[in-house]
Amino acid sequence: MTLTFRAKLLASHLALVTAIVLLVVLELNRTLGGDLERQLDERLDQQAKGAAQWVGEGRRHPDKLAERLGLVVHAHVTIFDRDGNVLGDSSVVDLAHAPSGAGAPEFVDARAGATGRATRVVDGTATRFVAVQAADGLVLRLGAPLADIDATVVAMRHRLSFAFALAIGAALMLGWLASRLAARPLRAMTESATRIAQGDYAIVPSTSPDDFGVLSRTLASLAAQLEAKLGELTEERDRLSAILAGMAEGVLVVGADDVVALANPAAETMLGAALVGKALAGAVTDAALRAVIEEAARSGQTSEVEVESGSRAIALYVRPLAAQGGGLVTVLRDMTRLRKLLSLRRDFVANVSHELRTPVTAIQGYSETLLRGPVDDGTRKDFLEIIHRHARRLGALVEGLLTLSDLEARPPEQNVRERVEVAAIADHVRATLRERTAQRGGRVDVEIAAEVVARGDAVAVEQVIENLVDNAVKYGKNGGGRVRIAGRRRGDRVVLEVADDGPGIAPEHLPRLFERFYRVDAGRSRERGGTGLGLAIVKHLVEAMGGVVEVESVVGAGTTFRVDLPAW
Ligand code: ADP
Repeated sequence: MTLTFRAKLLASHLALVTAIVLLVVLELNRTLGGDLERQLDERLDQQAKGAAQWVGEGRRHPDKLAERLGLVVHAHVTIFDRDGNVLGDSSVVDLAHAPSGAGAPEFVDARAGATGRATRVVDGTATRFVAVQAADGLVLRLGAPLADIDATVVAMRHRLSFAFALAIGAALMLGWLASRLAARPLRAMTESATRIAQGDYAIVPSTSPDDFGVLSRTLASLAAQLEAKLGELTEERDRLSAILAGMAEGVLVVGADDVVALANPAAETMLGAALVGKALAGAVTDAALRAVIEEAARSGQTSEVEVESGSRAIALYVRPLAAQGGGLVTVLRDMTRLRKLLSLRRDFVANVSHELRTPVTAIQGYSETLLRGPVDDGTRKDFLEIIHRHARRLGALVEGLLTLSDLEARPPEQNVRERVEVAAIADHVRATLRERTAQRGGRVDVEIAAEVVARGDAVAVEQVIENLVDNAVKYGKNGGGRVRIAGRRRGDRVVLEVADDGPGIAPEHLPRLFERFYRVDAGRSRERGGTGLGLAIVKHLVEAMGGVVEVESVVGAGTTFRVDLPAW
């Protein structure tokens, strides 16, 4: 059985009071009878000694004397002669038959000069006798019934029992009150502590100056500190989660038990979802990655390596947490894109160098020949034409590269969003390329209604159409080829098509057609003044206007480039 603090307090209070009162009562009870007898003895002693001087042989009527003394001392007075015969007695005694005191121990003692004492039952009453020697060897004996003492003791016991009951009752009542008073602040504090445990830290402290008040104020300040600390911890945790969530690097924390304790979204993107709680082997399924992590855990050494994981390249930084009792932190960085960019840059530089080398070498070679010695007019003209052609190619290359780098560097907000009347632009392009078209024996048709209006940059749209039509003429049917520029509105978009009826492009080339310097037939492209940048520029321009460009081609039947732009 569990007792409340209040019940315990009350019980201890009661036990204490009961023990004390019981001790007092028992002690009183134990000593009371003896004390009363001693008092009686002392009284009888003094009275006997006081009365003895009145007793002597010279005195006549000792019986009368005994009677008078009896009245004075309120006791049973007997006067004996030296042999123990009764000479006088305060009670009405037939002296002739009065018992002799000779054998009584008090008489013997008194005769010996001491104070004789004895207790005997006389007429059914316990009586205390005290005898002293008087003049002439007479003995004076006083007797008092002990019944009075017994009655006093009994009465006293009754009173003590009553006092005991009263004390217990009072103790109960006072104890109840005291425990109530003592338990109240404790109950208030228990309630406060329960509220704190439930996460409610708004505790109103007691203003009482006693110990409970101090405890209550300490509790309130503890709650306030706890709340502040919890707030700080929550803020810290949120900040950390936000940082981890926003990181491009994957962070994986594995505990000493080999189980994933933390994984941020980037880590889950790289390794798979729901990693937390999984064993390392289940979380990191790629053998190469796991081997690096396990090796670092085994050796306790921080390691930093780049690992090929399937089609991806992942840079791993693994740091064992020996100081924190084991486990490790792994930071993963997907290097695939960076590697691709680096390889693109390498390829780009190689391509640019390669493209520049041919015209530069040609210009150098022919100009040196011209400088070295005299050449006839015809040869000089041929050489100068070759130099001029290559210089133009160089110019076109540089211009194309500049256009691309401008387009890449231009922030999206600088893109022009204006009304672009596509039909007029297509007509203009057709006119510009008329001569070239005629040289190839072809024809360009425009099939765009005047109300087809796109939203974008008119100059860019013109360049897009020009590049596509120029390609269609260049790579289309040689002689009698037909290029069609069509345009229509489809919902909130404008779809432009540049189609030719040329030899078409084999499907394997189509995915890479819009890459810089990508050509289906490099020789033919160069021969026709191509740089390999035209379609790359088209793609950039279209995308900058929020559009999409696609190509469709059937070998032997022709190629169609489709540009989808926002409508005005
Ligand atoms: P280029 O300067 O070589 O024309 P482009 O980027 O404009 O560079 O074109 C890339 C390649 O795509 C060309 O070299 C050519 O092989 C191919 N191509 C482009 N348009 C057509 C077309 N209409 N028909 C067939 N091939 C084409």
